[in-house]
Amino acid sequence: MARYRAALCRQCRRENIKLYLKGDRCMTDKCAFSRRPYIPGMHHDTARSRKLSEYGKQLREKQKVKRIYGVFEKQFRRYFQIANQRQGETGENLLKILERRLDNTVHKCGFAVSRREGRQLVMHGIVRVNGKKVNIASFEVKPGDKITVNETGLGMNSVKKALLESSKKKTVPTWIEMNFEKNEAVIKNEPVRTDIALPVQEQLIVELYSK
Ligand code: SF4
Repeated sequence: MARYRAALCRQCRRENIKLYLKGDRCMTDKCAFSRRPYIPGMHHDTARSRKLSEYGKQLREKQKVKRIYGVFEKQFRRYFQIANQRQGETGENLLKILERRLDNTVHKCGFAVSRREGRQLVMHGIVRVNGKKVNIASFEVKPGDKITVNETGLGMNSVKKALLESSKKKTVPTWIEMNFEKNEAVIKNEPVRTDIALPVQEQLIVELYSK
């Protein structure tokens, strides 16, 4: 399966915003964007001062969202088409679809420190949806689904145990109900836009794809 291979911190610097792709490290002073908050490359001064065209702004917004969720162009465009066919605002629909991806949901539950790690857990067959193994990161969860992680599969070494413990301190979004005793999550309802705390102007993406 294709995946982003570019250095993660470089992606944040390119988008000129912290995308939180590395989990806990992003909160520390080791964060590359905090230390070098400018576009990579020797001409970063020129790149930063250059005023973006409308198209440029739309393009950057799309790239930002793709990088946050780790999705490639082909799949992202497919998501857009699905979002466009659903009732409601296309941009919001798009974010809701992305938010309900299984790798993102696993991360939001606190089973993984980042979406990337969530994807790894899913692809290694450690995640169960309604008791069945699902190893497709793009699997779309729906209300009523029960998400669990196979603790044996996790190896449950001290690191993983600490991770699951730390998940109990994490704020889980209101569309997910966590049972920390059983390490089990239930999808209560679809996320709404206010549940998706991303600094994204999704309307710019709609404008880009509507040309
Ligand atoms: Fe981005 Fe900082 Fe996290 Fe690196 S450590 S992925 S620069 S937020």
